[in-house]
Order: sequence, then C-alpha cells, then structure tokens
Amino acid sequence: MVDLVSQYERVQEEIDKAVIDVIRSSAYINGPEVKDFQKELEDYLDVKHVIPCANGTDALQIAMMAMDLKPGDEVITSDFTYVATAEVIALLQLTPVLVDVDPDTFNIDVDAVKNAITPKTKAIVPVHLFGQCSQMEELLDLASKHNLHVIEDTAQAIGATYSFKSGKEQRAGTIGDIGCTSFFPSKNLGCFGDGGAIFTNNDEIAEKLRCVANHGQTRRYYHDYVGVNSRLDSIQAAILRIKLRHLDEYNKRRNETASFYDDAFKDVPELTTPKRFEQSTHVFHQYTLKLNGLDREKMQAYLMDHGVPAMIYYPVPLHLQKAYRDSRYNAGDFPVTEDLCERVVSLPMQTELDQEQLNHITETVKSFIKQQRS
Ligand SMILES: *Cc1c(COP(=O)(O)O)cnc(C)c1O
Repeated sequence: MVDLVSQYERVQEEIDKAVIDVIRSSAYINGPEVKDFQKELEDYLDVKHVIPCANGTDALQIAMMAMDLKPGDEVITSDFTYVATAEVIALLQLTPVLVDVDPDTFNIDVDAVKNAITPKTKAIVPVHLFGQCSQMEELLDLASKHNLHVIEDTAQAIGATYSFKSGKEQRAGTIGDIGCTSFFPSKNLGCFGDGGAIFTNNDEIAEKLRCVANHGQTRRYYHDYVGVNSRLDSIQAAILRIKLRHLDEYNKRRNETASFYDDAFKDVPELTTPKRFEQSTHVFHQYTLKLNGLDREKMQAYLMDHGVPAMIYYPVPLHLQKAYRDSRYNAGDFPVTEDLCERVVSLPMQTELDQEQLNHITETVKSFIKQQRS
C-alpha cells in the first residue's frame, strides 16, 4: 500500500545527516529539533500553538484531558473511523456518542450530530476521514449554540485546507478548539516511528495541553493535574522537519494519483469514485471506492493475485465492535456506516507510484470487473 523506502531515498542524504546530528548532540529528549519542528509546523499551519507528543492517540487523549470533562459527559464522534477516536473517550470514562456519516464524503453527518446533542454533551470530535475536512462551519455553529468543545481528529488530513463561506481559509486541525494529528509512518506527514501533535489557537488551552502532556507539571516537580508522559523524540522531529518541507508536494502527488484513478473509473458503473467536498481540499490519505454490486472479497483476492494490495478501511462500524457494543446501539442503527463498511475498498495511495504501476492497478481493477460481467 505504501512505499516508504522510495520516499526516504528521495531525501536520504538530508535525513541521514539530521539523524546523525541528533545522535552526536545527545539531545534525544526535547532537543532543539523538537522546538524547531514545532515552530515550523506552527508556521505551516498558521496556528498559534503546536504541542508535539508521542502519537496521535495520545494527542486525542491529552486534548480530552485538557477539557475539564467529568465521567459521564458525552462526546459525539463518528461511527465510521479508526478506533482511537472513540477509545480515548471511553478510557477517560466519558461516554462516546456515535453518529452516522455522510454517504458521499464519509465524514460525520451534521444533522445526526444535531440530533445527538443532549444536556450532557460536552464535545464533538469530527474526524477528517481519508483526507478531507468535515463540515466545520456547520459544526462550529452547532458547537457555539450549545456551548460545546470541538476537537478535530486530523490524523488523515494534515495539509488540507477548509474554506468558510466568507472565503476565509484555515488548515485542517486549526479550525476547532483543538486539533490532533499523528505522524505514524504511513500518514501523509509520517516519521520513522511514532509521533503526534496537538494544535490550538487558544493560549490558555495550549498551556493546559503542554502541562497535561508533561505529567501535569506547571513547573518542575510541581504537579497541578494528573497528566501523562507523551513526547516527540528529537530524532523523529529532525526527520519531520525535512519531510514537512515536502508535505505540499506529497499531497499534490496524492491528488495526481487520485485524478488518474477518477479518470480511469469514471465510466465504470460498478465503482463510485470519492466525492470532493467543495468546502475542503482533499489530501487523499486514502483513495476509497464504493463498490456497486461487486463481491469485495473476490475483488480483493483477485487484485492481490495480480500484485495489487487493496485494503478495507474500515470493515466494522464502531458500534458493532465488541469493545464498544452498548445497550444504546443495535445493528441497523447507523445504516450509512454499516453499508459503507460492506462496500468500501481503498486502492494503493502514496507518493511514489509511477505511471506503470498506476496503469497496472487500474487495468487490474477493470479486468476483474470485465470478468464479473461475463
Ligand atoms: C492514525 C489515526 C489515529 C491514531 O494515530 P496513532 O499515531 O497511530 O496513535 C487516530 N485517528 C485517526 C483517524 C487515525 O487515522
């Protein structure tokens, strides 16, 4: 699915030097590379505060911990997402309130959010799934009307830009109260291990986030909150500084791949190509097709036999996962998510696909479909 070695080889000299410099400096924890990366990411995102941390799941957890929520408070999030989003809500003994998604964009359904708000609701966590922003303007309106926090899970959408109706533009993750991202190697901005970050434009929240991420410490050995230990390593920061300079170009390549797929499949009724939502750019963390009447398992096996990896993100809705089953929910409650979980398939999407590989992928998909028709 992802060719991380070729991507590394394009910047190998720079990265090797940066990593060795950190090793020689011995500033492995909170070294200058971490500060520099933080500043450069703040500039790139045009956000006041970036707080680096150990991974994307921690970023979400720290964000929730900084919000002064109490057990039983309700947090609304998408039923169609990676488990981390709901996991941290449950870990903190908050109540995850799952809602359905839009069938075209795969992102949280604003009307469903509206219907799920109760007096106990304290926050909304939109997930910018597969690389494009949720309907942030509508969600912010709802949040301000009901006095809710908005925490964006932008692990899959770093670099995407959201446009408000006024024309104002903001980067994914800098629109709500807090944004959370991951630098897992296969993410659009990936390091060579684990990493994550939290974004905010609010000085007070930033201070609390920094404090929670560092053992709840306000100054050395003074602990005002129960916190966690979550840091980005200097080596990872050094790597991320280099890759950040290429992020726009990486996202452009992903878009070129997506356009090629779109074009190849535009007259194939068995496939629905991903819809672009006009309020957001798309950074194609995944290129996800909906299958119309095709046997997905058979298709996946056929592609695999022809050297094309295809993955299912995600096969099971959160409300049907064993750990998140709940007397509040039944099979059939979230029809869009349940349908998507049965019909989606993601094609290879990364920065290093060449024309020959792309042709092979689209020809293989088409030859499977031809075989099914006859
Ligand atoms: C990857 C991902 C996370 C978690 O990031 P980690 O760094 O693996 O902890 C959270 N949410 C979404 C939507 C993700 O894709």
